[in-house]
Amino acid sequence: MQPVIVIGAGPSGLAAAYELATHSVPVVVVELLDQVGGLSRTIRKNGARFDVGPHRFFTKNMEVHQLWSDLLKEDLLSVPRLTRIYYKSKFFYYPISPMNALFGMGPLSAANVIASYMAVRIRQKLSPREPVNFEDWVVNQFGRQLFEIFFKTYTEKVWGIPCTQIGADWAGQRIKGLSLWTAVVDAVFKPKNKSIKTLVDEFVFPRLGAGMFYEQMAKAIEGNGGKILLGREAVNFRHEGGKVRSVIVKDSNGATEEIEGSAFLVSSPLTDGIQGFNPVPPNEVLEAARGLRYRAHVGVDIDVEGNPFPDNWIYVHAREVVLARIANYRNFSKDMASNSSTSPLTVEYFCFKGDSIWKQSDEALIELAKVELQRMKVLKPEQVQFGFVVRNEKAYPVIELGYEKKMDMLKKYIATFDNFQPIGRCGMFKYNNQDHAIATGLLAARNVLGGNFDVWSVNIDAEYHESGEVPPTKQSH
Ligand SMILES: Cc1cc2nc3c(=O)[nH]c(=O)nc-3n(C[C@H](O)[C@H](O)[C@H](O)COP(=O)(O)OP(=O)(O)OC[C@H]3O[C@@H](n4cnc5c(N)ncnc54)[C@H](O)[C@@H]3O)c2cc1C
Repeated sequence: MQPVIVIGAGPSGLAAAYELATHSVPVVVVELLDQVGGLSRTIRKNGARFDVGPHRFFTKNMEVHQLWSDLLKEDLLSVPRLTRIYYKSKFFYYPISPMNALFGMGPLSAANVIASYMAVRIRQKLSPREPVNFEDWVVNQFGRQLFEIFFKTYTEKVWGIPCTQIGADWAGQRIKGLSLWTAVVDAVFKPKNKSIKTLVDEFVFPRLGAGMFYEQMAKAIEGNGGKILLGREAVNFRHEGGKVRSVIVKDSNGATEEIEGSAFLVSSPLTDGIQGFNPVPPNEVLEAARGLRYRAHVGVDIDVEGNPFPDNWIYVHAREVVLARIANYRNFSKDMASNSSTSPLTVEYFCFKGDSIWKQSDEALIELAKVELQRMKVLKPEQVQFGFVVRNEKAYPVIELGYEKKMDMLKKYIATFDNFQPIGRCGMFKYNNQDHAIATGLLAARNVLGGNFDVWSVNIDAEYHESGEVPPTKQSH
C-alpha cells in the first residue's frame, strides 16, 4: 500500500499525519527544515528558547484544545495575558481599554478621538456606508482618530501595504464585536463583562515553547509507524489522469528522490506547489499563483540580562522605529529562559523578501534592534548577551483586495485532482492560526480515511477565536 504523503511538518501537516498514523495508515511527512513545528517551532540557543514571534495558544475548537492537553499534560500552562501598544513613548493596553486610552493620550487628543467617533456615528446614521477595506471598517467602528493612533501604523508595518488595500473581512475577523461605545459602557458600568471578543486575559502555552507541542506530536506519529523526513524540499508534483502520483524531493545536497503516494496533503505554500506541477498547469493558473504574495517575518532573537518589561508582547505603533512588535518569552513561561536572571526576546520586523530589511546582514539587524530598543527606553544595548536572526520568507499570506479571484482560480485547478488537498496557512493561503491549521490537517486526513469534509470551511466564520472557555491548566507564575 502506497503511503499518504504530507508536505510540511508544521501544525497542519503534523495534525494530518498524527490522525493518519493513529489509524494505522502509512504516512510520510516531508519537511524542508531540520526541525518540526513550522512557523510554530521553537529554536534553542545557549539554553534559551525562542518562538517565531509570540505564539499564544487559544481556540474555541474543543477537539484541538483536547489534543493540546492530551499531548502536553501538565506542561500545558495557563498564562496571564498582558499586551500593550507603544505609541508616543507611552504604553496603552491592548485589547484597547477606552479609559486607559483616553486618559493616556491627554485631554486634547481624547477630545479629538471622541469628536471623530461621534462624527462617524452620525454619518453612518444619515447615510450608512458598507466598509470595503480595512480602513473603512475600523473608521466605522472607532472613528478616524483612533484608527490613526491604534490601527494604521502597526497594520501597515505588518502588511507593508496601505490599510485601504486590505480587505474589510480581515478586520471583521480580528476585531469583531468591539465598538468604542460598547467598550466605554462596559469599562464604566460592567468592568467584569467578558462578552467582547477581543477582551481576553489568559491563554494556554506549552512550558518549553510553542514547538514543544509539535515535538510531542512528531514523537507520537513516529511511535505509530509514521515517517518524518527532515531537510527535504518538495519541488515537483507529478500527475496523470486527474491524480497526483508522486512528489520529487530534494535534500540539502541537491540530491533528488521521487516518492510515490496514494494521497497528498500539502501545507507548503500553494503558490509554489502549483508552479511545481508536472505537466504544467494552464497559463492563467500559473499567473494567478505568481500574483499572490506573502509577507516575510524577520525575528531578531536576543537573550537579555534581567526582565525588561512585564508584557507577553508589545505592539510598537511608533513611527520612529521600524520594529513592529517585541515578544518576551520569559513572560510566557520562565522555563524558556536560560537562567533566572535572563529573558529571551524576539524583536520583530515585517518585510517582503528582497527589500532592505530582508537583505541586511544578521549583525546589522541585531545592531538595529539594540538601537531601536534603546530609543524606546526598553533596554540598554549592554544588556544583550547574544543575538541571532531567523528569517521566514512566507509568514503571512497577504489578504489584499482582489486576492480572492486568484485564489478561486487556484482552488478550481486543485479541485481537478481527487487525491491532492491543500492544508494549513500558506497551503490554503488563509490567515490561519495554529488551531485552524491543526483543524484543516485533521479534516483532510479524515477525508483520506473516507470522510467528506470541506476543509476550506475551517476559519470562514469571520470570528476571532479569543473568548472560548478552556479547561483548567497549570498556572505558569
Ligand atoms: C510572527 C507570527 C506570530 C504568530 N502568532 C500566533 C499566535 O499567537 N497564535 C496562533 O495560534 N498562531 C500564531 N501564528 C500562526 C501560526 O504560526 C500558524 O498558523 C501555523 O504555524 C500554521 O501551520 P501550518 O502547518 O499551516 O504552516 P507552517 O507552520 O508554515 O508549516 C509549514 C511547513 O512546511 C514546510 N515547507 C514549506 N515549503 C516546503 C517544501 N517545499 N517542502 C517541504 N516542506 C516545506 C515549512 O518549513 C514548514 O515547516 C503566528 C505566526 C507568525 C508568523
